[in-house]
Amino acid sequence: MSAAQPFPAAEPRDRTLDACFLGPYGENDALLEKLLVEFLRDHVYWRRNFHPEDPPAIATAAAHHPDYLAFESRMRRELHQLSAALKKSVPFHSPRYIGHMSSDLLLPGLAAQMLTLPYNPNNVSEDAAPVTVDMEVQAGLQLARMLGYPHDPSQPACAFGHLTSGGTLANYQALRLALALKAFPVALRAAQVPDLALPDDDWTAFNLPQAEGIALLERWQQWLAAQAPAERRRWQARVERERIEQHGLAGFFAAHPALHVPCVLAPVTAHYSWSKGVKLLGLGRDQLELLPTDGMRLDPAALRETLARCARTRRSVLMCVAVLGGTEYGTIDPIDEVLDARAESRRAGLDFAVHVDAAWGGYLATLFRREDGGLRPRDEVAAEYVQFPTPAVHAAFAALGDTDSATVDPHKLGYLPYGSGAFICRDHRAMALLAERADYVFHGGAADDYFARCRSLGQFIPEGSKSGAAAAAVYVTHKVLPLDHAHFGRLPRATVRAAEAFHARAQGFALEMGGTVRALVPFAPDSNLVCLALNPHGNTSPAAANAFVHALHDELRSDPQQPLQLKEFFGSVTSLRPELLGATQTARIFGALGLDPADAGDDHLLILRHTLMNPYLIDRENGISYIDRYFDFLARRVRALAAARPT
Ligand SMILES: *Cc1c(COP(=O)(O)O)cnc(C)c1O
Repeated sequence: MSAAQPFPAAEPRDRTLDACFLGPYGENDALLEKLLVEFLRDHVYWRRNFHPEDPPAIATAAAHHPDYLAFESRMRRELHQLSAALKKSVPFHSPRYIGHMSSDLLLPGLAAQMLTLPYNPNNVSEDAAPVTVDMEVQAGLQLARMLGYPHDPSQPACAFGHLTSGGTLANYQALRLALALKAFPVALRAAQVPDLALPDDDWTAFNLPQAEGIALLERWQQWLAAQAPAERRRWQARVERERIEQHGLAGFFAAHPALHVPCVLAPVTAHYSWSKGVKLLGLGRDQLELLPTDGMRLDPAALRETLARCARTRRSVLMCVAVLGGTEYGTIDPIDEVLDARAESRRAGLDFAVHVDAAWGGYLATLFRREDGGLRPRDEVAAEYVQFPTPAVHAAFAALGDTDSATVDPHKLGYLPYGSGAFICRDHRAMALLAERADYVFHGGAADDYFARCRSLGQFIPEGSKSGAAAAAVYVTHKVLPLDHAHFGRLPRATVRAAEAFHARAQGFALEMGGTVRALVPFAPDSNLVCLALNPHGNTSPAAANAFVHALHDELRSDPQQPLQLKEFFGSVTSLRPELLGATQTARIFGALGLDPADAGDDHLLILRHTLMNPYLIDRENGISYIDRYFDFLARRVRALAAARPT
C-alpha cells in the first residue's frame, strides 16, 4: 500500500505530550484524580481558614437526618441519570473521532477550570474576580504575542485581548470595535471640537487609518483633560451626543449625508457568525459582501476590484475579514495580500479594518513563533513536514502582526473546554470607545496603568457576568505550554503532520478504489482539515453521488438511538456549492469525479470532512495508525454501499 511515512520509525517519541491529556483510554486518570482531590481539599482548607473561629453552620449530625438523606439520594439519582445519559456523548477524545473541531482536553486547563469552579469568580469585574481578571488580561497578552502583536504593557500601543463565549462573539466584538473607531472622528467633527486638527470632511474622517483614529482619540482625551471641570463635562457630553453609539445607525447616517452604512467584506468561506454579526450590529446582511475565493482562499484580485469599485462609488468599508483556517477546508487566506490591498486602497482614500478570523487556525501561529518571540523562517518550519507550510501560508502567518484584530478560539485548537473564545486587538487604546462609562480614558504609561484599565472588563466586553474559571484554564495552559513552536506548537505540529499523512493516504485510496469509486481531495489542505469527495464509478448525477455520501455519513455520525460502540469512526460532511466555487473550480472538481455539472439535480455536492486534531491519530505505542484504519473502514463501507447501488 502507498501509505506515506511522515513519521519515520527512528524519530524519537514526544514524551511531553504523554501527560497533556486524560488520554483516549483514560490513561492519565490517576494524575487527574490526584490533582482534583488535592485542590478540592485545598479549597476546603481555604474556606475553613477564612474565619476558623466561626463554628460549622451545618450541624455535624445533619448528614443523618432523613431530609438530608432524601435530598442526597435524589441528587445521586439525578446525577446517575445524567452520567448515564452522557454516555451517549460524542467521543471527542478518541482517535476514531475525526469529525468536527473538537478533541481531548488539555489537563492543565481542565484541572485549572475544575479547581477554580468552587471559587466561582465572575470576570465581569475585578471586584468579583480579584485573581482571574488579571489572568484573563494576561491570557490576552499571551495570545497577542503568539500573533505577533505588540504585547509590552508598558508601551502605549500594547495589544489587548479578552475571552468571549466563543469565536462568534469575538467576531462580533471586532465589528463593534471597528465601527466605534471608524465613526468616532466623524463625531468629533460634528461636535466641532477645536484644536484637534480634525479631518476636513466626513468622508476623510470616516476613512482614517486605525492608527490615526487612535492618535486622534488620544489627542481628544488629552485636550479634554486640560479643560476646567465644567467645560470638560460640557465637551464630553457634546461629543457623546454625536457618536454612532448614541445616534444609532439611522440617526448617525441621517446626520452625515455624505456617508452610507459601511459594508463588511469577507470570503465566501467565512463562518456564518459573520452573518449573525452584521445582523446583530444592525448593518444588515445586505452589507455583508462575500468575495470569491481561489481554491477556497480569498482571491486578492477580487478584493482589489471590489475595493476599487467601493472607492469609485464612495461606498465605505468597515472591515475586511481574512480567515486563518477556514471552517470547512482549513485553508489560510493570503493575509499579506489583504494588507497590501488595503495599503493601495488607503492611497485612494478608502480605509477599513483588517480582522483575522483565526477561531480555528489561531493556535497554528505557535508553529511559526520562536521561543524568543521572533518569527521562524519558512525553511526551518518546513523541515518538519512534507509540504507545510507553502510560501503563501508562511507569508500569511508572517503578516498576522500587522492586522488590526483577531479571533482565536481556545476551545478549538487550544484543546480547552467550551466556551472559550478570544478577541484580540492590536492597540488596546481603541477599547476606550467601547466603554459603557463615557469618561473612560485609555492613556498613561506604566504597565500598572495598563492592568488597572483593562481590569474593568465589564466596560468593554459584549457579555456581562462571565466565567473566571475559563480564564484561569486558558492562562494556566499557556503558562504550562507557552505559545511557541517548542512548547504548545508540538500539538498543532502533530495535527498538521497527521493531516499530511491523511492527505497522502487519501490519494492512495483514490488510486486503489478507482474501480469502485472516484475519490478526490478537492483542495490540498493548508493545515489540518482534509475533505474527500466521492462518486460511485460510472455515475454522472450529482444527486446520486450525494445520496451515496449521505449514506456513508450516516455511518459516521453520532446516533443516540444506537450504542456508541457500533460506530467505528466519526466524520462530518460539508457541501461544495458551485455558485461559491466558481466555474473553473466546479469544472475541475466535477470533471475529476466524472460528474455532469449541467445535471439539474442537486445544487450542491456533499463531501466528507475530516478534522485531524486528535493527538493520538498515530499511536506509536502500539504501532497503530488510525488514519490507515479509517481508510480501511472507508474502503469496506464504500465497496458495500457501491455493491448495494441499483445498476
Ligand atoms: C468555529 C468558528 C467560528 C465560530 O466560533 P464559535 O466558537 O463556534 O462561536 C468562527 N469562525 C471560524 C473560522 C470558525 O472556525
